[in-house]
Amino acid sequence: MAARRRTFPLDVYSDVRRRSVVPLAHAVLVVLFVGFAFGAHAAETGTPKSVLILFSNGRPLPGVVAIDNTLRRVVQPLVGYPVEMFDEFLDVERFGNTMDPAKMAEFLNLKYRKLNIGVIVAAGPEALRFALAYGDSIVPDIPLVHVNVTREDLSAAEIPPDVIGWTVDLDPTATLDLAERLHPHATELVIVTGASGTDRALERRIRNAVAGLKNPPQVTFLAGLPTTEVLRRLRALTKNAIVYTPGYYVDGSGHVSTPRQAVEQMAAASGAPIYGPYDTFLGSGIVGGYMATFEAQSKQAGEAVAALLNGIAPAAITHGSMPNTFMVDWRQVQRWGIDESALPAEADIRFREPSVLARYRWQIIAIAAALVLQSLLIARLLIERRRRRVAEIESRQRYSEMAHMNRSVALGELSASIAHEINQPLGAILNNANAAELLLKASPPALDEVAEILGDIKRDDERAGEVVKRIRGLLRKSSFELKDVDLNETVDETLKFLVADASVKGFSVRTDLARGLAPVRADPIQIGQVILNLALNAMDAMVDAPVGGRTLVIRTARAETDCAELSVIDSGLGIPPETADRIFDAFYSTKQHGMGLGLSISRTIVEAHGGQIYAANSPRGGATFRFTLPFAGKSAT
Ligand code: ADP
Repeated sequence: MAARRRTFPLDVYSDVRRRSVVPLAHAVLVVLFVGFAFGAHAAETGTPKSVLILFSNGRPLPGVVAIDNTLRRVVQPLVGYPVEMFDEFLDVERFGNTMDPAKMAEFLNLKYRKLNIGVIVAAGPEALRFALAYGDSIVPDIPLVHVNVTREDLSAAEIPPDVIGWTVDLDPTATLDLAERLHPHATELVIVTGASGTDRALERRIRNAVAGLKNPPQVTFLAGLPTTEVLRRLRALTKNAIVYTPGYYVDGSGHVSTPRQAVEQMAAASGAPIYGPYDTFLGSGIVGGYMATFEAQSKQAGEAVAALLNGIAPAAITHGSMPNTFMVDWRQVQRWGIDESALPAEADIRFREPSVLARYRWQIIAIAAALVLQSLLIARLLIERRRRRVAEIESRQRYSEMAHMNRSVALGELSASIAHEINQPLGAILNNANAAELLLKASPPALDEVAEILGDIKRDDERAGEVVKRIRGLLRKSSFELKDVDLNETVDETLKFLVADASVKGFSVRTDLARGLAPVRADPIQIGQVILNLALNAMDAMVDAPVGGRTLVIRTARAETDCAELSVIDSGLGIPPETADRIFDAFYSTKQHGMGLGLSISRTIVEAHGGQIYAANSPRGGATFRFTLPFAGKSAT
């Protein structure tokens, strides 16, 4: 028994002397007094109160790391001065059976007695039992905060009122129920536990829970086996089984590990899904469990520590138990083909791969918005283009109507000379017919001469017919039709409309046509219309010029810019400089009955052929209108 007193087995403290349980009011007074005394001491000496954290286990446990980090993170900002936090590890998994707790307490007292420890935190049931039994010998009469301790751990000890904390629920029942719900076809439950005292305590807890299951499946305990054997057995499992394990500290061959390391190995080997009690197992390959995270527990404990350091009495701090939540690893849910709808609605699902939509939400929204915007823009542009086309077609139609009207007007102006041109052959035909009649009445009839006369009649008739044909050609509503055109020929053809009119009005018309001028690519009717417009304008401009000087010259040439050039030169009064900018505008006219369309239409025609039109006054008086046309070899742009 003496040997047992000196060692530190898992539940040795259940029969060790407890700290005396003082009545609550007394305790509050003591704590207040101690608090004031320490506060005063801290204020006097300037030594801040510090915290001693006693861990049941060794440092490498992920749970230990989580508790330590969270306490440090939470306490400091809630206390107005720098708090030093010291960690001590009882390492029960290694030294639980060999350590003398009294000596340990003595050592800790020597180490910490001068450091103004204000609170002791006991992390884990063994640490709590040690602190309850020996806390006063380390630092007397200071409050104790426990973390990661179950209600059963507490009920096994008498807890003085200056000991506070939130118990955790490590009962596997809810986790086993969850596993059964997620794997309704499973027929076997395999429990894996270790060989150390702590491991055996965990095993007992699980055995109790399994015994209480309503519809227990076939249960197999793999308790205290060497890791190789555990892995071999797990490998042989199928999806018809469920594994539950709290991990283990020591395996059947005495090998020490952390429970998380043990679980990692199990998860890598197991043919069946694994469930466990700690959130630190999530990510190692287990599916999940019903648990309170180490972080949440330590945050709660840290706030209590800060309150105590700030002078709040332990009795004033309400405490109770940590709520558990269902936690699952999404990747394992997928891996084991678990029905998502079977998961508890409130489950905390970890490692859920965010969908592409969730991951690139903003990028997708931005791209979609850009696409929508772009589509709208494209739609708008298409509509615009359609509208423009319709407008273009309409304007081309209007233009061709206008051009046609312009030609009709031009012909109207020439009607006198046209009538003259037709009347002349008709008159000749009549005269010839009369003469032929007389010749036929003679005896013998002069048939040879009649034949000659009939030839003349035919020629005159053809002449009149040609005039009509020319007029019809000009009045025809034709579409724009490009062909290789001899510009000089077009000039000649057009002048036929004019010569009679010009001679009636007393103008002389002269042509100066370049020899061997290469053909241009043009619509001959439209180019004829331009020449006609320019010539008619020229004749209008010369009406007021002295009679002797009324000369109209039409000249063709090869321009320097390597295209054909046609000039209409008059000897009129010229273009008044103030109107020079506007003469090509539609509906601009200085004439009393002018429509102001001739030059505007001419410019449109020339530009549609890829040429340009210019107007200038000649140095010797009169105006010169000049336009260019590309040769047939060159494409009109
Ligand atoms: P319109 O002949 O019906 O007036 P145009 O567009 O053919 O329409 O001509 C516009 C104006 O340009 C004319 O009113 C006239 O003032 C001026 N113009 C045209 N040709 C000449 C020219 N050869 N000499 C002087 N002015 C001219």
